Amino acid sequence: MKKDILSMTMAELSDEIAELGQPKYRAGQIYRWLHKVGVKDFSEMTDLPLSFREILNDNFVIFSCDIEKKLISEYDSTVKYLFSLYDGERIETVVMKYKYGYTVCVSSQVGCRMGCRFCASTLSGVERNLFPSEILSQIYAAERDLGIRVSHVVMMGMGEPLDNYENVLRFLSLITDEYGKNISMRHISLSTCGIVPRICDLAALGLQLTLSVSLHAPNNEIRSAMMPVNRKWPVEELIEACRAYTEKTSRRISFEYALVAGQNDSPACAKQLAGLLRGLLCHINLIPVNEVRETGCRESSPEDVKKFSDILSAKGYAVTVRRKLGSDINAACGQLRRNSILTSNPDAGQ
Ligand code: SAH
Repeated sequence: MKKDILSMTMAELSDEIAELGQPKYRAGQIYRWLHKVGVKDFSEMTDLPLSFREILNDNFVIFSCDIEKKLISEYDSTVKYLFSLYDGERIETVVMKYKYGYTVCVSSQVGCRMGCRFCASTLSGVERNLFPSEILSQIYAAERDLGIRVSHVVMMGMGEPLDNYENVLRFLSLITDEYGKNISMRHISLSTCGIVPRICDLAALGLQLTLSVSLHAPNNEIRSAMMPVNRKWPVEELIEACRAYTEKTSRRISFEYALVAGQNDSPACAKQLAGLLRGLLCHINLIPVNEVRETGCRESSPEDVKKFSDILSAKGYAVTVRRKLGSDINAACGQLRRNSILTSNPDAGQ
């Protein structure tokens, strides 16, 4: 088995290089090629002797993302990739352009096992966790392909990042490494459906990461119907963990709330939500739900979205209604992979 070199820290790589009997400075050269330049192959490491590149190739593998499909939105130049991995699995990655720079939305798993009722990523369950290298290489592949520098990362693609905790933590330490892409932890958001013990673990680390919590409902009855994870960790426990997170990190939490017509979008829900989050350092992001054929969820009307938002603003909350980027290219979670599964195996949708 070749070793996953892109998932190694500089210290680990140094040990490996020493074991191969090579001088220490080689590790720095390799790390730079891998993480600053983002090469896909050892043959591109042109300042290393050819014989050493061959040794590297015999011992290590650089896990990369190959472009299977690339869609560019006509409205806002959002780019969505369907990438294929070494074993033929497919994941989705989205690149969005904002005034402050490029943001990449990365996937953390192939599929998802959380079962949220409105989400396309979870319809066929989870295949496997992504390695740290495979999370990184989504960013490297996008930078290479588009000739851009990415400044912000959101872990809001396919999968539940806190269900792949160790690999995600390693990814975070590699992407923020000053000898790599050196992206500031403050420019990274991690979105979770609410795995409470892992939120507490994250809080204990005190990272300057932005935590996004997919709340989507103001009480257990509605939330459990929309999100099975709520049966294990109910709203009260989730909010308590969020409070601990803000207290430990002084970071504002971003609550995601997908508005589904007739389910969670009433004025009563907005009032209950305002009560639930009272005193919590937070921001509320309202998202008219993206309609996915299989889920039957319908988007709230613009009037209901406005009413909902106004109630929260009147109570003093910072509220935004998410702009829909790339809606013409299936930019919402999991829809592209889903379509590719259905095209190659029409029975998968039954
Ligand atoms: N598993 C993580 C991150 C992935 S999804 C999480 O649950 O947070 C990123 C965000 O998109 C989450 O807030 C998720 O609830 C939301 N989402 C998923 N499907 C959606 C849909 N059809 N419409 C609107 N938001 C959706």
